[in-house]
Amino acid sequence: MVATTMKIGDVEVALVSDGTCWSDGGASFGLVPKPLWERVIAPDARNRIPTALTCLYINDQGTRIVVDTGFGDKLDARARDIWNLHGERRLLTSLACLGIRPEDIDIVILTHLHGDHCGGNTIRRDGRLVAVFPRAEYWIQRRELAEAIYPNERTQATYLAENFIPLLEERRVRIISGDVRVSRHVETMITRGHTHDHQSVVIASDGEMGIFLGDAVARAINLERLAWVPAFDVEPLESMETKRRLARLAVETKALLFFQHDTAIPVGRAEPADAGRVRVVPVREYKGEPIALISPSDGMDRNREEVA
Ligand SMILES: [Zn+2]
Repeated sequence: MVATTMKIGDVEVALVSDGTCWSDGGASFGLVPKPLWERVIAPDARNRIPTALTCLYINDQGTRIVVDTGFGDKLDARARDIWNLHGERRLLTSLACLGIRPEDIDIVILTHLHGDHCGGNTIRRDGRLVAVFPRAEYWIQRRELAEAIYPNERTQATYLAENFIPLLEERRVRIISGDVRVSRHVETMITRGHTHDHQSVVIASDGEMGIFLGDAVARAINLERLAWVPAFDVEPLESMETKRRLARLAVETKALLFFQHDTAIPVGRAEPADAGRVRVVPVREYKGEPIALISPSDGMDRNREEVA
């Protein structure tokens, strides 16, 4: 079965999953005490919470774009156990559900270079690391790339050279600075805080808007509670101001909001609530059609055929 995309104005869009992992609940909510956050998301026995690895597929009048590439297939058995990550070729399987092959992708936009967002950039083939999307140009913010190449003690566990150095060697990287137009209806927008030059992706066409927030707002609850800032963020107070700005923008534009790590609310809209806050209303349908989160399990049989 070929899965379906949705349309934001003239732009075809689909949420394509690299699967689900489990990540530390405390790290996801920073200073927030566990008795508060566990009421919203229940942790497992290892204090981990379910974490979606959702990526975005965009077809803007023939320009085919993927935003973020998930964890990919290069983690060793120990890391896979820690993240509770199963299966291989997950994002590629989801894309195959849409009839999209890796060679069809023109551009990969990376919100930032943490391992759960760009692990699927490269793959080990015949003992070499090569680009997963063989024709694509990978768009990365200049400062993000610099910080990934020269990590510090706090960031080195997630900035893995194997995810981006091979792309530089293959001359596949387009280095960008600030907000940049990618295609007719797609733009990047700096959303600082999680990393210094973290970027979100905005699709605007025919009066409609969608924002793929990345880790600027990983889950819907992070937009509703501005003080719920993940411990991962390198500039927590900037994160809070970024979220305040995004919340205002989301209310004004009525944009569809894509929450990359939220397993319960992958898509929502912001409405004004008390005390200057916003409330996120889940969006399950768009223009009368259910919004699909295309996951690797949807395409297991298809993938098995392809691999065979
Ligand atoms: Zn992340």
